[in-house]
Amino acid sequence: MSDYEYDLFVIGAGSGGVRASRVAASHGAKVAVAEEHRIGGTCVIRGCVPKKLLVYASMFAEELDHAGPMGWDLGEKSFNWQRLRDHVNGDVDRLNGLYTNTLDNHGVEQILERATVTGPHSVKLASGREITAKYILVAVGAWPYMPDIPGVEHCISSNEVFHLEDLPKRVMVVGAGYIAMEFAGIFNALGSHVDVVNRTQTILRGYDEGITDRLLRLASARGIEFHMDSRLNGVEKMEDGTLCADIAGKEQRIDTDCILIATGRVPKTEGLGLESAGVAMGTKGEIEVDEHNRTSCESIYAVGDVTNRVQLTPVAIREGQNFADTVFGDKPGTVDYDCIPSAVFSQPPMGGVGLTEGEARDKFGSVKVYTSDFRPMKNIFAETQERGLYKMVCDADTDKVLGIHMIGPESPEILQAAAVAVKAGLTKKDFDATVAVHPSMAEELVLLK
Ligand code: NDP
Repeated sequence: MSDYEYDLFVIGAGSGGVRASRVAASHGAKVAVAEEHRIGGTCVIRGCVPKKLLVYASMFAEELDHAGPMGWDLGEKSFNWQRLRDHVNGDVDRLNGLYTNTLDNHGVEQILERATVTGPHSVKLASGREITAKYILVAVGAWPYMPDIPGVEHCISSNEVFHLEDLPKRVMVVGAGYIAMEFAGIFNALGSHVDVVNRTQTILRGYDEGITDRLLRLASARGIEFHMDSRLNGVEKMEDGTLCADIAGKEQRIDTDCILIATGRVPKTEGLGLESAGVAMGTKGEIEVDEHNRTSCESIYAVGDVTNRVQLTPVAIREGQNFADTVFGDKPGTVDYDCIPSAVFSQPPMGGVGLTEGEARDKFGSVKVYTSDFRPMKNIFAETQERGLYKMVCDADTDKVLGIHMIGPESPEILQAAAVAVKAGLTKKDFDATVAVHPSMAEELVLLK
C-alpha cells in the first residue's frame, strides 16, 4: 500500500497537465488532475484554437475581395459576429469534451475545482478536501497581465475577446506581441478600425527585423493604425459607451469601443501555496525548475507557461510528456529547446526558426543572408500588391543554415517543413540541391539568392 492517495496529483488541465496526466496514467500511475476553469486550458479554451478559427473566418474578407478578378460575382456581403462567435465556442465545447474523454479513457480522475499546495505531498481543494500524493505537478499556466491604470476595468484581455457581444466598430490593441498582432489582424479584416498602441518602435520583439518591418508595412497598408512609442495612461468610459483612451505623448485622446490589453502573460502562481513546500520562484512568480522540470522541492514538478521558459503549447506538451516518462516511465530525458519554430497568425502570417540575422551576426560575426522578396502568384492574379519575404541566414564559413524567417500566405505551413531541415543542420547547398515544387510559394526556399 502506498503512503499516498495518488501517485501523481496534477494542478491544471491545460496542454502540459493533460499530456503529463494521461502519459503517467498509461505508465501505471494513479493520477488525479484538478482544474478550476475548463479541461483543455488556455490553448484549447481561450487561446490558440479559438484564435485560429477567428483567423480563418476573418481571412474570408480578403478572399471575398479577391473574388471579382477570379470571375465570381457575389451578392451583397454581410458579416454576423454572433454566429461566428457561437460557432467558435461550439468547437471549443467539442474539444473540451474530447480532452475530458481522453482523461477518462486513461483512468485519470478529474476534479473540477481549484487546488492549492499545502506541503511537499499535499494539496487542498476549494471544497476543503485534503489530498496526498507522492508527486505533485504544477501546470497552471499563465494569465494575462493587466496594468494598474485608471479605467482598466473597461478593458478586456484575450480571455474575454472570444465572448464579445458585438463586433466593435473600433478596437484599440495595447502591445505589439503575438496576441496583439494576431487580434489586430482579425479585427481589421472583420471591418473594425484598429489602433495599436506600442511602447517602443519594435513589434514582435525576438523575430527577425526584416520580417517584422514587412509586417508593419503590410498591416499599416491594410488599415491598422500604429501608435509607436506610446503608452495607455488611462481609460474613461463615456455615457454612450465610448472608451476615451489617454495615450502618453498624444495631444488628443483616442476614442474607441473596445480596448484589448495584450502586454504579456504572467505565471499564475499567486495564492497557490507553493511557499508551504519551499518551491523557489523567480521575480515574475515563475516556478524555477531544473532540466527535468523538478522544482526546489523534490516531490514537486512544474511544466508549461508557469515556468515562463518558452510560452508555447507544443513546448508545454513536450515538457509534460518528458516529466511523465522520466518519473513514471523509467525513460529519463530532457526537452531540447534548440531551434523551436514559431509563427504569428497575423495577416499576412509570419514565422521563424533558428537565429535571426541580428542574433547570427552577434554569435558568428560573418553570416550570409539569402532572400526572396516575391509577389505570390495568387496576389498577382488577384491584383493585390502585397509581397512575401523569405530569409535564410547561414554561417558564412560552413554554409550551415542557422535560421529561416518568412512572411507571406501560408508561411506557418511552409515553415514547419523548413524547420525540420534547420533542426537537422542542413546547409544552403542541401536546399539548392532540392528540386522545386512548382508553382508554389514554398519553392522560393530552394531558389533563394
Ligand atoms: P508577448 O510577450 O508576445 O508581447 C507582449 C507585448 O506587450 C510586447 O509588445 C511588449 O513590448 C508589450 N509590453 C509588455 N509589457 C508592457 C508594459 N508594461 N507596458 C506596455 N507594453 C508592454 O505577449 P502576448 O501577451 O502577446 O502573448 C503571450 C505569450 O503567448 C507569447 O509570449 C507567446 O509565447 C504566446 N502566444 C503564442 C502565439 C503563437 O504561437 N502564435 C499566439 C499568442 C500567444 P516589448 O517588446 O517592448 O517588451
